Amino acid sequence: KDYINGFPKTSDMVVTSDATIHLQLPVNDDTGLILTKNLYFSCDPYMRSRMSRMTERSYINSFTPGSPIIGYGVARVLDSSHPDFKKGELIWGLINWEEYSFIKDTSSLMKIEHTNVPLSYYTGILGMPGMTAYVGFYNICSPKKGETVFVSAASGAVGQLVGQFAKLYGCYVVGSAGSKEKVDLLKNKFGFDEAFNYKEEPDLNVALKRYFPNGIDIYFENVGGKTLDEVLRNMRPHGRIAVCGMISQYNLDQSEGTHNLFMLVSKCIRMEGFMVFEHYHLYPKFLEMILPLIHEGKITYVEDTVEGFENAPAALIGLYNGLNVGKQVVAIARE
Ligand code: NDP
Repeated sequence: KDYINGFPKTSDMVVTSDATIHLQLPVNDDTGLILTKNLYFSCDPYMRSRMSRMTERSYINSFTPGSPIIGYGVARVLDSSHPDFKKGELIWGLINWEEYSFIKDTSSLMKIEHTNVPLSYYTGILGMPGMTAYVGFYNICSPKKGETVFVSAASGAVGQLVGQFAKLYGCYVVGSAGSKEKVDLLKNKFGFDEAFNYKEEPDLNVALKRYFPNGIDIYFENVGGKTLDEVLRNMRPHGRIAVCGMISQYNLDQSEGTHNLFMLVSKCIRMEGFMVFEHYHLYPKFLEMILPLIHEGKITYVEDTVEGFENAPAALIGLYNGLNVGKQVVAIARE
């Protein structure tokens, strides 16, 4: 309804309907419009930044209060006057949170060509979060076989994949997450070597020393704040920190300070942020790698799906309270 401060609430969003909209393209339209039936929405942590006014931290425009939320999703093309999209095709990319959409800006849309997987996977393992895990681990972490890897928010959309990529690569992998259920998933489903519930660790430094007696070579950073500070103390010389996100900071007006940054100097650590949208040219290569891994059962994937448009606001804000177990998806319509 308006820009927000602090933790988002469901009352910050409203679900409305408008029966006057005609689900048809204008007759003889030549403006390159597509009409979609939207099937799945993706809830992603970065969406929080779009709910606030632009600040120097913003890297993407804010939402317009009173207009539909926009996010990644999966949709079926019902009609098209765009030369690149045909009626009946499936797409994923940025779409409004609507049951049906008229899309003019098709620049983010990708066609779905592999349909022998659940379509919702294109909000996660085969979509933006999957690409994030892929680019972040293989390109930014510069992994070597046998290295030690720590992943925070490890059971989430990105984390569960990073951990599995690292295991397949031959690394020792430990993940942290915020509940017993998530820790069990990390150890028993995703094959992490170890996992712990950071909420039950009175001293994170002690916990990290328990799992990494010889230090961490690679930290895949998803949460920021105190976790980053304690990880810095436990990094090995010439370690790498891939800064993917810092969800613990997203609802704070001012970021928490980090005290141990000098470790970057004293241990010759490389800490590098990255944005997945700079790497989409790698998407075909990524699909070539990940599809066989899925089909051969070498990688597993957990989604947390809520049904129905009306449950989308709660699903989105649940991310900031750790309510999602796996990738948070909203199913709008099934085909
Ligand atoms: P997740 O599926 O992991 O969901 C978010 C999880 O974050 C929650 O389930 C919760 O898990 C954890 N969390 C929430 N609040 C806190 C907190 N205060 N402290 C610690 N953990 C918290 O999300 P994604 O996998 O989609 O995203 C993971 C990270 O990757 C985010 O930081 C996101 O912004 C970033 N990202 C970056 C991209 C890029 O291009 N750089 C692209 C995509 C994502 P738990 O119960 O374990 O606390």
